[in-house]
Amino acid sequence: RPRVLSGAQPSADSLHLGNYIGAVRNWVRMQDDNDAIYFIPDLHAMTVEHDPATLADRTRRTVAQYIAGGVDPDRCTLFVQSHVPEHAELAWVLNCITGFGEASRMTQFKDKTARYGVDAATVGLFAYPTLMAADILLYQAHRVPVGEDQRQHIELTRNLAQRFNTRFGETFVVPEGFIPPASAKIYDLANPTAKMSKSAASPAGLINLLDEPKVTAKKIRSAVTDNGTEIRFDREAKPGVSNLLAIHSSLSGRGVDELEQDYAGKMYGHLKVDVADLVTAFVVPFRERTTELLADPAELDAILARGAEKAREIAGRTLAAVYDRVGLLRPA
Ligand code: ATP
Ligand code: MG
Repeated sequence: RPRVLSGAQPSADSLHLGNYIGAVRNWVRMQDDNDAIYFIPDLHAMTVEHDPATLADRTRRTVAQYIAGGVDPDRCTLFVQSHVPEHAELAWVLNCITGFGEASRMTQFKDKTARYGVDAATVGLFAYPTLMAADILLYQAHRVPVGEDQRQHIELTRNLAQRFNTRFGETFVVPEGFIPPASAKIYDLANPTAKMSKSAASPAGLINLLDEPKVTAKKIRSAVTDNGTEIRFDREAKPGVSNLLAIHSSLSGRGVDELEQDYAGKMYGHLKVDVADLVTAFVVPFRERTTELLADPAELDAILARGAEKAREIAGRTLAAVYDRVGLLRPA
C-alpha cells in the first residue's frame, strides 16, 4: 500500500477551517487505502516565538482535533514529532546538503519573517523546510496531502531526496504532494486574497473550529464580499464570493457550477447564511467530540505512545541507512 504522511502544527489552541478542508479531511479519506502516518509537528511550532506553558496542551488539543475530524488511530499511525528523535537527526543531515540560497528562496520563510518581523526570524524558522523534508523522507512516504502553501516545501523535499540518492546511493522514496485544487487554499474571510492562517494578523476572518458556533456564524455573515451582486466563481474579480463558494462546495459536496446555478438571482446574504449553516453543522459535533477526547488526556497519551512506537520502527531503519551512507562511524 502506498504510504501517506501529513501533519498540522500545534501552533494555536484550535485548528481552522482551512486546515480541515485543505488537510485533515483528505487525511481521513486516505487512511484506508494507504498506509497512513499522521503526526503533530511540535518541533515546527517552536520556529516562531512560542509559549512553553501552552505547547504541550496545544499538542494534545491538536491530536484531539485530528481524531474528532475523523483520523482513526486504529487505522493509521498517529504520533508527536518530538517523541521520535530521528526527525531532528535526519533534519541535520539534510541541512548539510541544502544550499543556503535554495533555503533562502522559500516563500513561507519570507512571509513569516514579514509577518513577525525580521528580529523574530530564527535559524529554526529558516530550517523549517529541511525539518519538514526529514518528516516526510524518514517514512519513505509516497504522497503528502497538504494545502497549496506547502507546494514549494514539497518540491524542496523532492529535490533533497533526489540529491541524496544521487550522492550517497538510493535511499529515499521521492514523494509527491497531494494538493486537490478545489480545497487547496481557503482564504481569510476578512481578507480574501490572503490564506486563512492560525497566525493571521486579525481574527476577523479566521474560522477556528473550536470557537463558539455563534461567533463563527457572525464572522461568516461579516465576510468581505465583492462589488456587484452576482454569485459567481471568479478568483480574480470575486475573491470573497469565490472563497465562500469553495467552502460551501467542500462541505456540501456539491459542484461549484451547480451552486452558481442555484444562487442565480439570489443575494450574497443568502450564500452567507447557507455557508454559516454548513459550517455550524460541522463544528457543533466536532467541538463536542474534541471536548470529550480532551477529558481523558491519559487515553490520548496512550494513543500517542503506541503511535510513536510504530513510527520509531520505520524512522530508525531509515536513519540507520542514512548514517551508514553518509559515512558516520556507528557505535560498536
Ligand atoms: P501557521 O500560520 O502556524 O503556519 P497554518 O494555518 O499555516 O498555521 P499549518 O499547521 O502550518 O497551519 O498547516 C497544516 C496543514 O493545513 C498544511 O497541510 C497546510 O498546507 C494546510 N493549510 C493551512 N492553511 C490552509 C488554508 N488556508 N487552506 C488550505 N489548507 C491550508
Ligand atoms: Mg503554515
